[in-house]
Amino acid sequence: MSRKRILITGAAGFLGSHLCDRFIKEDYHVIGMDNLITGDLRNIEHLFKLENFEFYNHDVSSFVHVPGDLHYILHFASPASPIDYLKIPIQTLKVGSLGTHNLLGLAKVKGARMLIASTSEVYGDPNINPQPEEYWGNVNPVGPRGVYDEAKRFQEAITMAYHTFHGLETRIIRIFNTYGPRMRLNDGRVLPAFIGQALRGESLTMFGDGSQTRSFCYVDDLVEGIYRLLFSDYAQPMNIGNPDEITIRQFGEEIIKLTGTDQKLVSLPLPVDDPKQRRPDITKAKAILGWEPKVSRSEGLKITLDYFKSLPEKEIRHKDF
Ligand code: NAD
Ligand code: UDP
Repeated sequence: MSRKRILITGAAGFLGSHLCDRFIKEDYHVIGMDNLITGDLRNIEHLFKLENFEFYNHDVSSFVHVPGDLHYILHFASPASPIDYLKIPIQTLKVGSLGTHNLLGLAKVKGARMLIASTSEVYGDPNINPQPEEYWGNVNPVGPRGVYDEAKRFQEAITMAYHTFHGLETRIIRIFNTYGPRMRLNDGRVLPAFIGQALRGESLTMFGDGSQTRSFCYVDDLVEGIYRLLFSDYAQPMNIGNPDEITIRQFGEEIIKLTGTDQKLVSLPLPVDDPKQRRPDITKAKAILGWEPKVSRSEGLKITLDYFKSLPEKEIRHKDF
């Protein structure tokens, strides 16, 4: 029997590369697509020798063509770290809007089911905690984070419109902060930033007084949630994340203990519109997908630290964003 064919955009990135691995493991024909703007081919180089993997270096904000049948599309292309999307704001808006439109068009032509990577950022700086899917959010459209948040909100809106208007099979996942091997050490997100600083013997840069919270999910748990959502019949947005909430100060202290560094936290100004709290309500994921996270932060952090330590010394030392 011939293999089902799946297109994964953002394939050379952190999450996209783990998704490629999972679908290869499940014996799919995987078509990776990426323009490498924040990704790295090294994340998928082990797949290039496989006959059921192909790769297109392409910007999905321009017309997307894929020859042959297509059964599924996972749209994960987009800068995801605040440092990245502040550096390339227009590309971020385009990949969430034009890129999503192109891929929905492709899904329609091919009769494929499409899942989009949305984000907890659609809730903005939430004034309820934890955040259930019914919450409409508190987003500043013209603030620095607006380029990401509004692109993702538009992405959800156009995806839902294709679902209701064209009857396309769609899935929307709202991903909360996820971490693990293949994150870029210099992508500016708090976990690689703190670990990189600890490994270089520098102070850990805590923004603000560190009382803001985040809830960190290990990548394998997220991938399992995505897999289950794709094959469910649930078309409304679904939160996937780990509800174990922690302040950034406590998180910094955990990294100091884990790495054994003698460095301390230093406080830098809090970025504009930085959300004060973030924790997923995963009632729906539990009830509909039978999903909940399995990997504790201490286990996940150990694996991630080992990954970062295994990088060439030159990369650990290189700290420019
Ligand atoms: P990442 O930066 O590691 O990966 C994104 C990939 O998309 C990169 O390889 C990049 O080169 C590629 N890309 C960007 N624009 C593109 C374009 N126009 N055409 C083709 N490829 C393009 O980020 P990530 O953490 O793996 O995030 C992947 C997706 O998951 C993003 O859509 C992001 O918004 C979403 N997400 C991630 C998190 C998280 O915690 N990691 C949280 C919420 C949502
Ligand atoms: N943060 C920090 N120091 C850093 C990088 C980030 O204190 O060097 C804080 C940031 O202000 C935010 C939290 O850590 O409150 C998570 O930031 P990240 O960029 O990882 O993701 P976000 O959840 O804000 O998108």
